[in-house]
Amino acid sequence: MEQIIVEELQVYGHHGVYEQEKKDGQTFLVDCVLDVSFGEAASTDALEHTVDYGNVCLFIKKFFTENAFDLLETVAESLSTEMMYAFPGIHKLWLKIRKPEAPIPMEFSAVGVAITKEWTKVAISFGSNIEPREQYLTQAMEKLLANPAIRNLTVSDYIETEPYGYVEQDKFLNGAAVFETLLQPQELLDQLHVIENEAGRERTIRWGPRTLDLDIALYGDCQVNTKDLIVPHLDMANRGFVLEPLCQIAPGMVHPIYRLTVYDMLQRLRSKL
Ligand code: ATP
Ligand code: CA
Ligand code: CA
Repeated sequence: MEQIIVEELQVYGHHGVYEQEKKDGQTFLVDCVLDVSFGEAASTDALEHTVDYGNVCLFIKKFFTENAFDLLETVAESLSTEMMYAFPGIHKLWLKIRKPEAPIPMEFSAVGVAITKEWTKVAISFGSNIEPREQYLTQAMEKLLANPAIRNLTVSDYIETEPYGYVEQDKFLNGAAVFETLLQPQELLDQLHVIENEAGRERTIRWGPRTLDLDIALYGDCQVNTKDLIVPHLDMANRGFVLEPLCQIAPGMVHPIYRLTVYDMLQRLRSKL
């Protein structure tokens, strides 16, 4: 991955907590590093094949003029997200915003904040065993795609599977999807819970009947281990109904702990059964 760098871009804005900052405005310094792929641009020498840093600078200037936030944190969060949407060629963004004239009664050169945004590749597995199963699954995929922080969604075929864990229930329809997202793992889980709840998901019996279940299988090569979220999903290597559909759309995705591809995990599981 190559990088485009912007250093100490000077822009004017009215962001700040104090009345005087809101009224008079002040200068801000913006630095950013954009991870992009030079690929075609380097061989064709054509501006339309890269991220035009002139446009990036104009975009930042416009953002500063058209908005007025109290906190630099909000400026950074909002601007970085807008930049990722406006310039799809940016795979990862590091953004720093400084105030050289911040109202601090001391000698200093600047205060500021920095933020990183990245389109991370994610694999989810999903299932339903209450009719209309297919409709629950398809609607969930449509809702994911409607979120601007999710892009390049690929969905596997749906496969019918026997219930897992608690077997006294109807057959499941399962599938997998991969996409890129700007959401952090916990934000993605919250989003999946919203979609499950909209499908009328009730949690009664563990592994029991459900209109819709959406699990995060892999989140890039990240490992998460909190009270609410464990990624990679703890049991994915033992589940054909996760690995089979996932292998159809992302056989080469790697489990960051086992260092095995989805394809290899599926072969291992099959050889055990
Ligand atoms: P399993 O996770 O074994 O497939 P389940 O999907 O039936 O079981 P749920 O009742 O849907 O379990 O979820 C229980 C909780 O699991 C969720 O509220 C969530 O906080 C937590 N959880 C932990 N790791 C994950 C993950 N990788 N994806 C989704 N939920 C997770
Ligand atoms: Ca599950
Ligand atoms: Ca779940």
